[in-house]
Amino acid sequence: KRADAPYRTGRSKSWLKSKCTRRQEFVIGGWSRSSRRRGFASLLLGVNEAGKLRYAGRVGTGFDDRALADIGDRLAALESDRSPFADALPAEARRGVHFVEPRLVAEVAFAEFTPDGLARHASFIGLREDKAAGDVVAETPAATGGAVAVLGITISSPERVVFPDIGLTKQALAEYYAMIAEPMLEDMADRPISLVRCPQGRGRQCFFQRHDSGMFPESVRHIPVIEADAKSADYLYVREAAGLLACVQMGTIEFHGWGSRVADIERPDRLVFDLDPDTALGFDAVRAAAVLVRDRLQAHGLASLPMLTGGKGVHVVAPLLPEADWAVVKPWARAFAEDLAAEFPNDFTATMSKARRRGRIFIDWLRNQRGATAVMPFSVRAREGAGVAVPIDWSRLADIAGGNAFSAADPAAILAAAKTRRRVKSTSLIEVGNDVGALATRHPTRSD
Ligand code: ATP
Ligand code: MN
Repeated sequence: KRADAPYRTGRSKSWLKSKCTRRQEFVIGGWSRSSRRRGFASLLLGVNEAGKLRYAGRVGTGFDDRALADIGDRLAALESDRSPFADALPAEARRGVHFVEPRLVAEVAFAEFTPDGLARHASFIGLREDKAAGDVVAETPAATGGAVAVLGITISSPERVVFPDIGLTKQALAEYYAMIAEPMLEDMADRPISLVRCPQGRGRQCFFQRHDSGMFPESVRHIPVIEADAKSADYLYVREAAGLLACVQMGTIEFHGWGSRVADIERPDRLVFDLDPDTALGFDAVRAAAVLVRDRLQAHGLASLPMLTGGKGVHVVAPLLPEADWAVVKPWARAFAEDLAAEFPNDFTATMSKARRRGRIFIDWLRNQRGATAVMPFSVRAREGAGVAVPIDWSRLADIAGGNAFSAADPAAILAAAKTRRRVKSTSLIEVGNDVGALATRHPTRSD
């Protein structure tokens, strides 16, 4: 289907239908004379079965004049009195038949084998001079098409390389997500999610998908959400590992989630401050900034943890009790970020402008609005090296060299981080209140 065309039933110019045919070699065991054309009307086909040649139908189309003449000459030289077929031929195949020594091999396309083993809608492709007649058997397509099952979910094209730079395959990606499903879902289950899908692998075209496209199995659930234009759209969420893997089967590399869960999407249960450093800054600056954000949040009574994004930066995440709604949370996050930027104008900016960012860290508070997402803990990133978003302990941050310190190529290290991860308490933002500015200036900088 043309990518920009809608899904509609019936024929149209935006759909191309290609028939799924089978094809394989057959032994030519005879031919029937034609009253209308030179050469022959059809070839009698056979396959080897238990040491005998079994009749497998006829092919009467697909020949041009040259093939008719050429094959006709070859058949004449192989003429035989005896049927090479072990079984008796059906009546329609016996009419006007000439048998030959079973030496020639034809490649034939056909729709399917009938229940009695005859090729249906056969069409001649060419002679196979490279194949020995004795090797020709009826082929059965592999039922799974080479797919594997991971946690019971079919993963097709498991050998496809999703990350060419490190040779990571779709199967390895699926196995990573199967391994990490439990700790990952602790955070991600029941959140509306956006997916970064790269069906052809990382270097190729990727797209951000937030709405249901009708292509996912039931394990990828839907929730209707009223959007800014007052219209309802179905968002996606998953609850179990099966849903996670169904997304991977559909080419998903990255998982991004809302700040709230489907039980009450109007009341977020986490605050996220995304620290985006100017390209000139090193990870030292990100580390120091994260610690500063932690201290400021602490001053307001909010506990937090850092999460490496798998990319350049760090997200500082503070779990909330889902009490305050977006109308409270967003301005709170904004005031918090703006106070920080006002207090440390050389280090932070709270505006997205690239110019303001020069030499500074953009503290992105806009992750904390309805509909915005942040990359989920343990999500792989569709970036070079397959970096993974990993929540860590504050005490470990000092040893970390960059936002992409963990890679899906080393799942054991990530599992270890997941097993030892610490949880921090969820805070009620309603109790914290709106006195951000006052609090922020009352607590002087503490640097670790
Ligand atoms: P890095 O540490 O490299 O900045 P990041 O995940 O923070 O990694 P950002 O580009 O800063 O990446 O984006 C912050 C968040 O905004 C992302 O985690 C993602 O959830 C969301 N986001 C980014 N790009 C898009 C997009 N095109 N559409 C929707 N959401 C996006
Ligand atoms: Mn970021």
